[in-house]
Amino acid sequence: MTIAAAALDDSGPVSASSDQIQANTQPVGGSISGTTGSSSRAGVLLDRDGTIIVDHGHVGSVDRVEFIEGAAEAIARFNRANVPVAVVTNQAGVAKGLYGIDDVTLVHRYIAERLAEHGAHIDLFLYCPYHPAGVVEAFARTSEDRKPRPGMAKAAEAALNLDLRASWVVGDRPEDVGLAEAVGASAIYVGTGSFHRPGIRSFPSLAAAASFILEHVTA
Ligand SMILES: [Mg+2]
Repeated sequence: MTIAAAALDDSGPVSASSDQIQANTQPVGGSISGTTGSSSRAGVLLDRDGTIIVDHGHVGSVDRVEFIEGAAEAIARFNRANVPVAVVTNQAGVAKGLYGIDDVTLVHRYIAERLAEHGAHIDLFLYCPYHPAGVVEAFARTSEDRKPRPGMAKAAEAALNLDLRASWVVGDRPEDVGLAEAVGASAIYVGTGSFHRPGIRSFPSLAAAASFILEHVTA
């Protein structure tokens, strides 16, 4: 797998964090299919907290993972349609010292296991452990990977052979919409809050957005 190198095309120093680069680009819970073809394809980039699982605030342990109703089934629908699915999640809790990258890995493994029970899988988990106001020195900095900066979307593009301009970013925060805008993807806002901006579709949940995405994504 050669997907790691593209992950942190970062403005900051990269060498000190190469292990983290490897760690945060490991595909979990499913194989990457179809990457041998030459033509890129549309994919779905999913925020994690507030989109797939309940945003309890800095979820760094499996006991705090609570799936949002219908999210697993929505991901399974993308899988069945052969639409690649990546998770792109800011995990500033690492920089803040609330949990470590190993904990993030465990949470993602747990999510993958629970999704598998619903016949669903994530093709690629990506997370950004950096935050400029962090207290853990190794992660206390700005990063091109932190949404709305485009690093994770570009890493997913490289790893999954995506056409980002034909892809969708789904999330519950302005930075998710910002990520979509940064790479020319389409944005879908999910959640109970309202987000009014021309051209941005809004749905109450990922489950509610899934049919719309599948109708508009060109596999
Ligand atoms: Mg979120």
